[in-house]
Amino acid sequence: MSTIQQNLQDVRGRIATAALSCARSPEEVVLLAVSKTKPVEAIAEAIAAGQRAFGENYVQEGVEKIQYFAQQPNGIGLEWHFIGPLQSNKSRLVAEHFNWFHTLDRLRIAERLSDQRPTGMPALNVLIQINISDEQSKSGIALTELAPLAEAIATLPNITLRGLMAIPAPESDYQRQLAVFGQMNSAYQALKQRYPQVDTLSMGMTDDMSAAIAAGSTLVRIGTAIFGARA
Ligand SMILES: *Cc1c(COP(=O)(O)O)cnc(C)c1O
Repeated sequence: MSTIQQNLQDVRGRIATAALSCARSPEEVVLLAVSKTKPVEAIAEAIAAGQRAFGENYVQEGVEKIQYFAQQPNGIGLEWHFIGPLQSNKSRLVAEHFNWFHTLDRLRIAERLSDQRPTGMPALNVLIQINISDEQSKSGIALTELAPLAEAIATLPNITLRGLMAIPAPESDYQRQLAVFGQMNSAYQALKQRYPQVDTLSMGMTDDMSAAIAAGSTLVRIGTAIFGARA
């Protein structure tokens, strides 16, 4: 078995353990394999091990990989998530190539993505990014700004609001991780009440996936534990 195959099996095991330990079904948690900076050969290994959903942070790199796998027999049915910060002048490439966009934090980008989504493609699935740790340097909106932004983007025809995403400040203590993720889950549950199509809470990375799942995450974004450390 290749290292990536073995790693994927381990990560699936960790997801299942975390889910079962809080009486959730492991199937409620989607595994997004974060392949940024990794070559197509590494992605191909993950595909061979049954992985379908991949996350990319850099527009050009992501589009090249999407176009590569569109030509490959093993590329059928893959799902591509853009999870990095997006400059508005690059929005067209995301609208034309990706299935999901996790880092929506302003109406202007939402409008561009909706306008630029090609007719014939299904609506782009979007998540609003919340700056849950209130860090000056991080992107995302404050929870107090969520309701008006959600309302404005709900009217756009070619994007669908599916939920929320967060990257909390690094924190090694499990209880403190849980507390921050818990705030996200409260906001998510409220959003779900108002918008029935909302079904995705994107939180949890290699170092905090167990707490994220215990707090209600429905999608974990895992890079290092699958593909190894990045250069
Ligand atoms: C890189 C990245 C990840 C993956 O992080 P790991 O710690 O390698 O699992 C997840 N989410 C986002 C937004 C990232 O940029």
